[in-house]
Amino acid sequence: MGTLGESICPYCGVGCRLTLEGTASHVTRIRGVETAAANLGRICAKGAQLGPTIHTADRLAQPQFRLSRHDPFRTTDWDTALTYLAEIFTNILNTHGPEAVAFYGSGQLDTETVYVINKLFKGCFGCNNTDSNSRLCMAAAVAGYRTSLGSDGPPCCYDDIELADVILILGSNMAEAHPVLFDRIRDNKKARPDQRVIVIDPRRTATADIADLHLPVAPGGDIALLNAVGRMLLLMGATNQRFVDQHTEGFEEYRRFLLEQDLAELCATAGLEERSLYRLANFLASAGNLLSFYCMGLNQSTVGMWKNNSLINLHLLTGQIGKPGAGPFSLTGQPNAMGGREAGLLSHQLPGYRTVEDAEHRRQVEEFWGRRPRSISPKVGLTAVEMFRALEKGQLKAIWIAGTNPAVSLPDLHQVRRGLQRAQLVVVQDAYHPTETTRLADVLLPAAQWGEKEWTSTNSERTISYSPKLWEPPGVALPDWQIIARFAERLGFQGFRYSSAAEVWDEFIPLTSGRPCDMAGATSARLRTAVSLQWPCPTPDHPGSKRRYLDRRFATPSGRALFLPRDHREPREMPDHEFPFVLTTGRLYTHWHTLTRTAKAEKLLRREPAPFVEINPADALRLGLEEGDFVQISSRRGTVQLPARLRSGVAEGMVFVPFHWGDLYGEGNAANYLTISAIGRVAKQPELKFCAINLEKVASGARRVAGQEDRSQLERGQASSLATHQPPAATFLQGVLDATS
Ligand code: SF4
Repeated sequence: MGTLGESICPYCGVGCRLTLEGTASHVTRIRGVETAAANLGRICAKGAQLGPTIHTADRLAQPQFRLSRHDPFRTTDWDTALTYLAEIFTNILNTHGPEAVAFYGSGQLDTETVYVINKLFKGCFGCNNTDSNSRLCMAAAVAGYRTSLGSDGPPCCYDDIELADVILILGSNMAEAHPVLFDRIRDNKKARPDQRVIVIDPRRTATADIADLHLPVAPGGDIALLNAVGRMLLLMGATNQRFVDQHTEGFEEYRRFLLEQDLAELCATAGLEERSLYRLANFLASAGNLLSFYCMGLNQSTVGMWKNNSLINLHLLTGQIGKPGAGPFSLTGQPNAMGGREAGLLSHQLPGYRTVEDAEHRRQVEEFWGRRPRSISPKVGLTAVEMFRALEKGQLKAIWIAGTNPAVSLPDLHQVRRGLQRAQLVVVQDAYHPTETTRLADVLLPAAQWGEKEWTSTNSERTISYSPKLWEPPGVALPDWQIIARFAERLGFQGFRYSSAAEVWDEFIPLTSGRPCDMAGATSARLRTAVSLQWPCPTPDHPGSKRRYLDRRFATPSGRALFLPRDHREPREMPDHEFPFVLTTGRLYTHWHTLTRTAKAEKLLRREPAPFVEINPADALRLGLEEGDFVQISSRRGTVQLPARLRSGVAEGMVFVPFHWGDLYGEGNAANYLTISAIGRVAKQPELKFCAINLEKVASGARRVAGQEDRSQLERGQASSLATHQPPAATFLQGVLDATS
């Protein structure tokens, strides 16, 4: 068997480059590419087990539709499907206006697709209702970088791992969620035993196994912890005054704020002893270079942006930014979450790190797209959670979902399902069917996946990578950008006749010229020969930039980074007598998101075949639970029943449930039937890491069919909404059905 070619891994944001061996019809082996800067030959089990996920029986190969959600899907051709969708969208846009439609995408989508979607929705419809599952992962990191440093995008790179003296990992289980990067830290620590690794996480995860110090912060106590450490650093004279004076603003206010804080209170809120925090402060104060990694634990909170600001404050205080080996490094969860941000998929964004609220930004993009003045709306569009609320209220009529499975991944799934059931039109563009979301759709559009198309992505360290097409997609599946472009043409819009992904890319990158994420020099031709290019990369002869802010000029109007004093705020739903425990959710090493791919890899599934709940042994004793006993977990939104795993790494009063499993693997047992859809005020990121729950042992013989009560409630709702479900262009489809029957 020969080498088939190379591709970027379609899972996490590390962005490993993989070599595929075998043939187009049978990938036999996948290895990490030795020369790839992102992974240096490493690979994790998910990447290595991609082979069995490619040519599967559940690949969506033809467009499909149905007139009623009680009916089975019928296959059709692209022409019919897109004509139908064009008719229905025109009808809704004419009747209800542009804000009645929405696009909900993914960090899985390539940059070319994101660009075309924005051009259609924001540029042509005048509707900013485009958002993505990145809202669930890193909207708080985007807002944190923007408010503290003036621009989104991490300052650091993976090579900083070897240069750092202290690596601080907060709210990230890197060992399982970003394993290749974690392996690099572990290997480096072995070679450099003097390097210190500190892990801050309420759970003792596999990441903490290499830590010199693990601090089990109380869930929701991060800001208190960071402020306590800031106060300690200030009082121990660890301030880098020269850096603060020359490159920051707001220090006096931050200093006063910290000194007014009561240290004992901060420690109590963080759930940690003062001496543990002094140990942490001493590590930070003595670090020549301090690098911090963070992810969902900081971001998935109603105060996620504030948590990000509080961490960045510490980097500014100690001058640990804008130099090799240092900086606050937000990890991205998906292969192109970064590219989605660069091309502007979130509902406040425009391409090139612009925003819809900025009149000059709107004008620049309108002019670039050849649209008339004021065609882009200044109103921030609906965000992920808001879209599904608006569907339920009937304000949003149609939703186009691509490359994501919100019927598993969004919080408060009963609400999400009610929203989808109320929608007049649900279009799902995906590579697989069924998923929990395709089962609720009216129209299914088959998308080519990673090895079946040319695509461009940006990983966590700003590396832009091109992946070639390696084999043909099944049936008539198309690259996502082509589906959207054909749909736009069907609606009669100009400017969507692209002949290739390269043409889309080369149209997009001038929009980044002069912007913080400048990729104007990363042309499609160059990307097809370069191993990797990190932005900023402003000209075709520019080598790319490993790090940002090396000149200590930040992207704020003054060029100075901002200290932003942030108070501790409680999570939205605190435990009480009725729901006395805290639920936190997260990922496992062997699975990725909603199992759409990883459940097809036998080796991965064998390792973690089913969901579970981790409970502290002391809590289990009080509840009369033993390993494997079934537990009913109830929140104000739903109930699920899962087998217990007794683990001392989970603090008393808290439980952990992985969020990967949805209804395809046991109706009504997904973790997100329990979670709360409360969102932050600015970042609008949901609080997936914290909600109040109750636990009860399920008596033997009393195990209900998973989700039984909730399902019957659900089905009652479904019956009433389906009875009124009337696609606006049903007459068109009825004609197609008559003609083909
Ligand atoms: Fe893929 Fe992430 Fe594993 Fe690398 S670490 S192989 S990108 S899942």
